[in-house]
Amino acid sequence: MINVKKIKQDFKILDRKVNGKKLVYLDNAASSQRPRQVLKAVKDYQEKHNANVHRGLHSLSEEASEMYEEARKTVAEFVGAREDEMVFIKNATEGINLVAYAWGLKNIKKGDEIVTTVIEHHANLIPWQELSKKTGAILKLVDTDDNGVFDMRDFKSKLSSKTKLVAVVHVSNVTGEILPIEKIVKLSKGVGAKVLVDAAQSAQHIGFDVKKIPVDFLAIAGHKMLGPMGISGVYLKKEVQAEMDVFMTGGGMIKEVSNKSAKWAEGVEKWEAGTPNVGGAVGLAEACRYHKKLDLKKIREHEKEITSYAFKRLKEIEGIRLIGPNNVKIRGGVVTFVIKGIHAHDVAQILDSEGVAVRSGHHCTMPLHKRLGLISTTRASFYIYNDKNDVDRLIKGLEKVKRVFK
Ligand code: PMP
Repeated sequence: MINVKKIKQDFKILDRKVNGKKLVYLDNAASSQRPRQVLKAVKDYQEKHNANVHRGLHSLSEEASEMYEEARKTVAEFVGAREDEMVFIKNATEGINLVAYAWGLKNIKKGDEIVTTVIEHHANLIPWQELSKKTGAILKLVDTDDNGVFDMRDFKSKLSSKTKLVAVVHVSNVTGEILPIEKIVKLSKGVGAKVLVDAAQSAQHIGFDVKKIPVDFLAIAGHKMLGPMGISGVYLKKEVQAEMDVFMTGGGMIKEVSNKSAKWAEGVEKWEAGTPNVGGAVGLAEACRYHKKLDLKKIREHEKEITSYAFKRLKEIEGIRLIGPNNVKIRGGVVTFVIKGIHAHDVAQILDSEGVAVRSGHHCTMPLHKRLGLISTTRASFYIYNDKNDVDRLIKGLEKVKRVFK
């Protein structure tokens, strides 16, 4: 098991008070906090090595370039990829858009089919809606059951030889479900489709290895995995890169430019136009090392235990409806719920008055909320620095909510 007490010491922000109460941070699915190791790595870079990367012949530029490429290697390895397959981007949304534009516009044609799910975060839905509009492709959404659980039968029925892309989330940011990704990928490959996995909620909690699960594209979210904001990665499988066009154009991504046209750089720089976020990349690499040190298997075990406990305690609350699978074996550390007769925003506000940070709203999953007959839900999401006491504080806060709205 991981040592939560020790881990907490790395996160100074957890010592602060909110509304006079010690902060309990349960909004990790939106953005995590950063440990001192990550903050230090960024600070060291900024104070001692900061310069623009590539082509600079002075020492600072060489150091910054080296640190940037070293960071790329570390982040790539974190998901089982090679450094020439990892592109730095600002967030998971940008990574998915990059694939939609650079791969999608070139390879998706009228009448082709794109399969995604009703579970998706808008970041893994709207780019495909837009791509379909631009190309004349057909977008199909896999349904869930009434509790938001992925429907494998419906998925199978939507796959065909026309399916060119399957874009699916690994762990839902609302239901917490860990989708049966190996099976999804196998079936998708069986019909010759490319696969994009949105690992924004999984790479840091249960891990993802592209060597074991052969996806074509994988998006991660640096700010949800102890990294700084403004830095993330998207994995582009080497063989698929040859089928891709560019995304944004300009400096840093070219080999040669004439008055009329340009030739693109080879390798991942091709998708990194302009000055990159070097300090962010250095911080994200440190975040990857932090997870590795803790061991992802232990992180998963810990979060499973917290989630089980949260489930057990939440069920004691009268009028509560928990969204997503009941079985913690197939869910990550996200618990989303509604309490009969009480608006999710009121729940979150009262919890905040007790120092407990949760999120309320549609969590960028309007179609899923509609499917479940809901407008707004409350979500608590756990990470390495949360423990059972945090769950108890959540429950205590919810008891207050019940008292206020009696
Ligand atoms: N996918 C999922 C499953 C998410 O939870 C989120 C963030 N809430 C995103 C994509 C978008 O990530 P980002 O904010 O890094 O663009």
